[in-house]
Amino acid sequence: MAETKPPGLQITIIGAGIAGLGAAIALKKHPAIDVQIYERAAELQEIGASIALGPNGMRTLERLGVNNALDESVAFRNKSGFPMIYRHYQTNEVVSVDTHRGHVDPLHHTARFYRAHLQQALLKHVDLAQIHLSKSFRSVAARNSEGKLIITFHDGTTATTDILLGADGIRSRVRTFLVPTSATAWTGWVAFRSVFPISHVAHISGLPDEATHFWGPNGRTLFTSPLGKDLFTVVASHQSDPSAADAPYSDAVWDEDGDVSVFREFYQDWSPLAQAIVAATPHTSVYPNAAARGLDTWVLSLPGDSKGGRVTLAGDAAHAHGGAFAAGGSLALDDAWAFAAAVMHVFPPGSARKPTEEDVGFALRLYEATRKKHTDKVIRAVHEGNGEKVAKALRETETDEALRERMKSRGDPAWIHEHDVLGEFQRALGELKGENDAVKVVDVVVVGGEQVML
Ligand SMILES: Cc1cc2nc3c(=O)[nH]c(=O)nc-3n(C[C@H](O)[C@H](O)[C@H](O)COP(=O)(O)OP(=O)(O)OC[C@H]3O[C@@H](n4cnc5c(N)ncnc54)[C@H](O)[C@@H]3O)c2cc1C
Repeated sequence: MAETKPPGLQITIIGAGIAGLGAAIALKKHPAIDVQIYERAAELQEIGASIALGPNGMRTLERLGVNNALDESVAFRNKSGFPMIYRHYQTNEVVSVDTHRGHVDPLHHTARFYRAHLQQALLKHVDLAQIHLSKSFRSVAARNSEGKLIITFHDGTTATTDILLGADGIRSRVRTFLVPTSATAWTGWVAFRSVFPISHVAHISGLPDEATHFWGPNGRTLFTSPLGKDLFTVVASHQSDPSAADAPYSDAVWDEDGDVSVFREFYQDWSPLAQAIVAATPHTSVYPNAAARGLDTWVLSLPGDSKGGRVTLAGDAAHAHGGAFAAGGSLALDDAWAFAAAVMHVFPPGSARKPTEEDVGFALRLYEATRKKHTDKVIRAVHEGNGEKVAKALRETETDEALRERMKSRGDPAWIHEHDVLGEFQRALGELKGENDAVKVVDVVVVGGEQVML
């Protein structure tokens, strides 16, 4: 067991993914906050393929002191400085590019990681004794006599806490336990993801040496990118109408082995370059995409809990937007930072008194006010692109002219990838100041070693 810090505040995190580890790192400098992480997996394996972080996530990694993840040995950034390059599926010509909009330090340029590299980099900043494996969250209840929450795991063991942070991913059990109507639904989109040594494709003439999205008709895409440590990633996509009775992959399981020959067939009428890349891809795994509508509130209370809302969510658990915009990793890191900043706002390091229930309630509202508006906007954008819009696009044959127009007129994702979480935190603080006079508003927050002046 981890060494328990002096009596103060107990925070329990469910899930040792990017959000959960990020929150633990952001809180670790606090001498009186005891953080414990409970993870369902029996070991922290290298599962997953590539994951992108935009400037927002990269800035937050630096703010948290996770500089090892910014290193070019694990973070691959496009040399051109364009976060993404869009190529035509048959001619390979560059039809469009994403650009960084605001002033973005090159260190914070959009990067692609092998997910396991990012997770390992985060784990280096967490005391492993804080992470309890094979602990699958089952339920939580308020024990008013002790003033604590009691968490029960599937193995029958329990843990007590003052605050519960559900960071247990897109199918969050914490979320569906507290908000049973918040289950996700399949969007009809399936990603076929592969990561392998670059030597498999290095012989291919014209192989893109930057993160590149090839777009074809009717939503078919092929993403390729070098990754750190001489790895390469290929992500193929298959879109079907999720409401169709015969939709393929409707029963696919996350991270199950995919059939490379099926995946190669998707690209039969694509350019020789695209076909050479998929022919050289040695294996693939299947990732069905799911999403859910935004929650009404992130400050969750248990029935009969006299202390009010003491449960909240972070990462995909809080906003089940699926893989859209490749934004999940950065949103999770920004959530983690904002959660810690809000808690430290009511309970700064060195504070002589334990936060009251009003303080905790204020912290969770401050966290929600910092993050929910932005992530709700992301979720709305996701749902606008799903449903009937997808079904209609699949029914019609897209002309080359229409494809090119779609590539050029796609939305600019900079509002997601360059979102300023610190600015939002300051805005939210201004909005909530005075809401509760009992809460002493401090003007300095220390998160991950950085002093944030408010
Ligand atoms: C194994 C895995 C592989 C992934 N691979 C990719 C990828 O290749 N590319 C990509 O873009 N995104 C991938 N993702 C999703 C991506 O990590 C998230 O979208 C994003 O990083 C947000 O992180 P998160 O911490 O909110 O969620 P996640 O990264 O999903 O982490 C959630 C954590 O909670 C744990 N958990 C779930 N249920 C319980 C429970 N009941 N009790 C205790 N713990 C629980 C999970 O095991 C996991 O460790 C993957 C996620 C996982 C879990």
